[in-house]
Amino acid sequence: MNSDMGQQSEDRAVQVWTWDMLQAAALPMPHDNARGCIVAVHAHPDDEASKGAATIARYHDEGVTTVLVTCTGGEAGSVLNPLMQVPQGPSAIASVRREELIRSAQIIGYDHVILLGFRDSGLSPESTTDSARTFSGETFSQQHDEAVRRLMTVFRLFRPDVVITYPETQDDYPHPDHLQASAITRRAFDAVQDAGTGLSSAKPRTPAKLYEVLWPDANNHSASGTAHRTLSGSCGGGPTCCTQRTVEPTAKIEVTAHAGVVSLALLAHASQLTLDAQRSLAVPAPPTCGPLHDDYVLVRDYTGRNHVTGNDNDVESDLFSGCRPRGAVPAQG
Ligand SMILES: [Zn+2]
Repeated sequence: MNSDMGQQSEDRAVQVWTWDMLQAAALPMPHDNARGCIVAVHAHPDDEASKGAATIARYHDEGVTTVLVTCTGGEAGSVLNPLMQVPQGPSAIASVRREELIRSAQIIGYDHVILLGFRDSGLSPESTTDSARTFSGETFSQQHDEAVRRLMTVFRLFRPDVVITYPETQDDYPHPDHLQASAITRRAFDAVQDAGTGLSSAKPRTPAKLYEVLWPDANNHSASGTAHRTLSGSCGGGPTCCTQRTVEPTAKIEVTAHAGVVSLALLAHASQLTLDAQRSLAVPAPPTCGPLHDDYVLVRDYTGRNHVTGNDNDVESDLFSGCRPRGAVPAQG
């Protein structure tokens, strides 16, 4: 890659890549960060803020290369902020949401933002005017292979140690684009393993671990859950609300020092927030009685280590455990 191939965003170093830019990049990326690389695959702009943001902030501070893949442009999102005048039409909304996404990524600490280039399907058929072209629309089965191919390219270029996506079943919030994001990530992860990197690098590498990020639980000390409860006031049990989990995490990442990025990153998505929601998020969260953490389930592990997960003694505290040795963690500050 030439460092000037991605679009450098202002005030903080985040490289923004469209699919066309990524295709033109030379293989492989030269960063090969000794401290590791993590790729998070999300469906829409703002998902990166509400799911696992504090984890990314922590790893970024530890020197890990952090990569965000956003599958769609969020074209079906409604503008909920009455103070924002956004012209009608998917491209106008996508333009606004792209800027919000970049700002959110800067706040969280993503080094790279990759716009995979698909269109938001919306939660209901009425929310999009062209369902055939959407990420999970009528013809997605034809686009599915293309989406997997693009994601494989991302994995080959950035050579992450760890990949994060959504659970395979998402009863709490079964948005079709979220289900597709999970499906293509699993397929791309497995396909890259099968095919190898296809690179002539001296250090070919495929992703070692695949995690599902869990939706906030009503009863745990979750960084995302704290912001969520601030936003909603209480757990109402609705489709977008935190609920009792049926799956136990196999990894709990302590993020107390970084939990503040969640509200700030959500606030960056101003078009998607009512004024009440913005006011709620702007109020600092009350102190918690214990450490905050983001929770994950390990669903693929190619590190070769022997381990068992499933009881409290085996819960991981580092998504990179078992991966190649990480360099010395730099001093924070
Ligand atoms: Zn979403």
